[in-house]
Amino acid sequence: MPRPILATVHTEAFLHNLERVRQSVADSRVWAVVKANAYGHGIERAFEGLRGADGFSLLDLNEAERVRALGWRGPVLLLEGVFEPRDLELCSRLGLWHTVHCSEQIDMLSAHKTQVPHRVFLKMNSGMNRLGFAPQSYRTAWTRLNALPQVDEISLITHFSDADGPKGVDEQVKVFQAATEDLPGERSISNSAATLRHPGLKSDWVRPGIAVYGSAPDYPEHDAAHWGLQPAMTLSAKIIATQDLRTGDTVGYGSSFVASAPLRIGVVACGYADGYPRHCTTGTPVLVNGVRTRLVGRVSMDMITVDLSHVPQATVGTEVTLWGRARNGASLSIDEVAKAAGTVGYELMCAVAPRVPVVVDAVC
Ligand SMILES: *Cc1c(COP(=O)(O)O)cnc(C)c1O
Repeated sequence: MPRPILATVHTEAFLHNLERVRQSVADSRVWAVVKANAYGHGIERAFEGLRGADGFSLLDLNEAERVRALGWRGPVLLLEGVFEPRDLELCSRLGLWHTVHCSEQIDMLSAHKTQVPHRVFLKMNSGMNRLGFAPQSYRTAWTRLNALPQVDEISLITHFSDADGPKGVDEQVKVFQAATEDLPGERSISNSAATLRHPGLKSDWVRPGIAVYGSAPDYPEHDAAHWGLQPAMTLSAKIIATQDLRTGDTVGYGSSFVASAPLRIGVVACGYADGYPRHCTTGTPVLVNGVRTRLVGRVSMDMITVDLSHVPQATVGTEVTLWGRARNGASLSIDEVAKAAGTVGYELMCAVAPRVPVVVDAVC
């Protein structure tokens, strides 16, 4: 018997979330962002649910190869562009579209030998200050690119720093528009948060990541249910032992939890080596048999311990849901667990460890 822990990827949730994004921005085409191995879900496992997107965007060339290997002939965009000249050969061979965010990438393109000119997305740094040309050098970069025989269509792209928060996108939109006003080409500006919170923005291509995985980009202001999103991943495990604590007994390393009254606890086959965050402390929500209860004590490498006082029937073999959907239909959002760990749902889904077996819950 394998250790009783399992991640389930929900094809139906992908279909639903993609549809939800399309409702929000009906005039835009949708890149499903599948970087970081589809945010930890697995590109191959997510593909069935996401193949209705208009394109896939990602960063790793080997992930682009995997998308092509799945038979996807539509657009694939490299969000960071190429890292060295020979990457351009792969772009030519696989027909990848690529971001151009620095002059070194234009140099590489100008030296590249290709039969078929490339479609590129010229990136502006409109305030995020990670990748992209400053607004005042953007036009020069565009002109340089436009003169290259290696380049076909040029599209315009930028990325928001605060689409999920109170600062919003107005300043960056203003900067981007002012610097691109009379430039031709399609625009791609919105991530998940902008797609949901600022659906009126004109973005020929939107780039939702977290939303298609069913987590809220702006939790805790809004949760996934508010946005009508469904979790694309469930992490579940089973109880492998129970203990009856007496008043004063402690649990786990460091004795961080002390029972103030007799308490029955369950030991669950999931720990930080599975990707469950060690920063979660007593009180972090967890479902046992679909009933909401709490973590007690410290997360260890292979186990956590949970309060069974409201689930008296729970025993060895009982289902525990760390996030996602329980068999009885109850759900626990990854965002809530992430918050208890001082992080975001993105990090948790990306961090599910390779030792956790994964199944795809296909649409029948
Ligand atoms: C990761 C990424 C996205 C997707 O962001 P979400 O917040 O997951 O929607 C969009 N655009 C770029 C450039 C990215 O790197």
